[in-house]
Amino acid sequence: MAQTFAFEQIVRSDDRLPTLPGIAMRIIEVVNDPEADLHAIAEVVATDPSLSAEVLKVINSAFFGLPNKITSVFHAVNLMGSHAVKNLALGFSLVKHLRSGESPATATPLFDYAGFWKRSLATGVAARALAHRHFPNFSEDAFFLGLMHDIGMLALTQAVPDQYSLILQEMTASGCTAQSAERHVLGFDHAHLGAYLATSWGLPESFSVSLLRHHRPETLRAEERALTNQVNLLHLAALFGELFASSQGVDAIDPVLQLKVIAHYAAQCGMGDHSVCEAVASEIGEKAQEVFPIFDLDPGSADRYHDIVAEARQALVTSSMDMMAELIAQQRQIETLKQQTTRDGMTQLSNYQHFNELLHQECYRARRYKQHLGVLFADLDHFKTINDTFGHPAGDEVLKQVATSLREALRESDHLARYGGEEFAMILPETDADGTLLAAERLRKAVAALHIETDAGSANVTLSLGAVAVSPGAVCQPAELVKRADDALYQAKASGRNRSCMAA
Ligand code: GH3
Ligand code: MG
Ligand code: MG
Repeated sequence: MAQTFAFEQIVRSDDRLPTLPGIAMRIIEVVNDPEADLHAIAEVVATDPSLSAEVLKVINSAFFGLPNKITSVFHAVNLMGSHAVKNLALGFSLVKHLRSGESPATATPLFDYAGFWKRSLATGVAARALAHRHFPNFSEDAFFLGLMHDIGMLALTQAVPDQYSLILQEMTASGCTAQSAERHVLGFDHAHLGAYLATSWGLPESFSVSLLRHHRPETLRAEERALTNQVNLLHLAALFGELFASSQGVDAIDPVLQLKVIAHYAAQCGMGDHSVCEAVASEIGEKAQEVFPIFDLDPGSADRYHDIVAEARQALVTSSMDMMAELIAQQRQIETLKQQTTRDGMTQLSNYQHFNELLHQECYRARRYKQHLGVLFADLDHFKTINDTFGHPAGDEVLKQVATSLREALRESDHLARYGGEEFAMILPETDADGTLLAAERLRKAVAALHIETDAGSANVTLSLGAVAVSPGAVCQPAELVKRADDALYQAKASGRNRSCMAA
């Protein structure tokens, strides 16, 4: 896939990705050690007095609502189990560590870091509240997962600040979601990076799968189905997190619509009706007042959030679930339409506009990472004759089969587009001049070897190709590449067709 390319780049530049603080590493080690006893976690946490104090603060707050004061982490483990203490300690140490690492030098300027943490913490609180109602054994994991659910986004703002600025601009300009802007600019989204980090930190696989799928639980694979409830819960909690964040001025979402979406989704996955959702929404507001200050975050005005939830509740009473279903269907349709605007209807390849966008992105990447980049233009030879001989529908069939053959002969990370009628264009990331010419020849031979059966008879076609390659660090302008590849293609035609020419 094209996305692996940028993803690998980021993962390889390991020093820019967030790391685990030492204490969290030791906690995970103990969790993964089958020999460790019940108090091993408490022993590790107790080595860090400020961490212990913070964990105890939350445990003694209304968040847990325990009847008696707990005075040590050992006491906490006895009373609540090592699981709860582990998750709180991990959550705290990670948040503290990551927040202290947010220096202006490595950050994305327009990214709202405080807002990010408010949304994350509210998601953690929501996840715990939901788990408490529906899957009590999962409550403490849920808090930690909620807190960490978008960790990949934070990592991206630090690993690729320039590109993340582009992503934020695109979100503002088009009103699209972070995931779709990320996929557009980078070829993958923050959920992928979050899952990668969770794995590399030694967290359980169930955590990394949850982080990977939380935006789109419907993408869970058959072998991951055991995690359905967990992933649905995290998805729902993230929606609550956004609702809360909107009261803080973090995201400009419509609270009424958001609570509708929440209620609809909750009903769909068996996690309660409207009244349950409203109760959870209110609970988040109350708990936030307690928990946010412990994490050094301003919980904002309780009244404001209360008003938002009350307003949304009122609006819900007057609307029906049918309307909601219709609304969600409409949103899906808009997504599908967006997809369609990038594809050529006949071959399902990228269309001319999308090719130009991809070329801009790849030029940017080649410059940014000082890499080779190859571009190919291809045009079928004497295609008019095919139409004249076999008819237009048969010509269409030939174009489709050529498209398939080109796709198969390219690497997954290469981009292939239908540039015009019987013209195709390809972008070959990380490919030097020799590689680009080799690819051109491979494509040419693949097409020449095709025996295409159409309703009107068997057809053979050939392809002429123009190639251009940019060396690392060289100027890489999309318009110039297009012109040079096109000139090289003209040369291939002029010198006899069924051949590849390299641009001068
Ligand atoms: P050359 O080797 O110089 O490229 O010759 P050519 O005949 O391929 O070039 P020309 O550009 O003159 O003709 C292109 C032909 O491709 C004419 C046009 O009808 C045909 N064509 C373009 N788009 C489609 C399509 O979607 N379906 C079909 N069947 N034919 C198409
Ligand atoms: Mg042609
Ligand atoms: Mg042509």
